[in-house]
Amino acid sequence: MLALKPKFLLSENLNRLAKWLRLLGYDAAIYKAISTDKMINLANKERRILLTRSNKIAVRKEKFSRILIKSEFHTEQLKEIRSYLVFSREHIFTRCLICNKILFAISRDKVWNLVPEFVLNSIKEYKVCRKCGKIYWPGSHYKNMLEVLRNIFD
Ligand SMILES: [Zn+2]
Repeated sequence: MLALKPKFLLSENLNRLAKWLRLLGYDAAIYKAISTDKMINLANKERRILLTRSNKIAVRKEKFSRILIKSEFHTEQLKEIRSYLVFSREHIFTRCLICNKILFAISRDKVWNLVPEFVLNSIKEYKVCRKCGKIYWPGSHYKNMLEVLRNIFD
C-alpha cells in the first residue's frame, strides 16, 4: 500500500484535526513544546505541510509549505483542506489516532483479554499500535467517524 501524500505537521492546538487526518491514513505529526523555528525546520526536513492557526506563523518569510487554518471546529478544518485529501477505503484506519504510527493486524486470540466481550463475539478483525498498544476494531465508534467523513467528502 502506498503511503498517502502529503504529510502534515500540525501545531499542538490542532490535535483534533490531526486525529482525523490520521483516521484518513495521513501522516499527521505533532511535536510537543517546540519553537516555531524548529517547526519550520522540521516541516522542510520531513517535507511536511505545516498546518497552523497562527497568522504570525503563516506569514513568516522563510520558505516552507504552510496552510493557515481558520476555523476552530475540526469538521470545518477538514473542509478547509479537503482539496489536499482523499477519502479512500484502503487507507482509513491504518494509523494510530494517538501516536500517528502505522497499525498492524492482530488476531482475535491475542486480544481476547483486551477488548470487551460483546466486541469479541461480533468482530473478527483487529489492529494494534505497536507503540502505545491501543487495539482498534471496526465498532460503532468507527462507523460514526466514517459517517462524519462521508458528510465532509461526498
Ligand atoms: Zn499508538
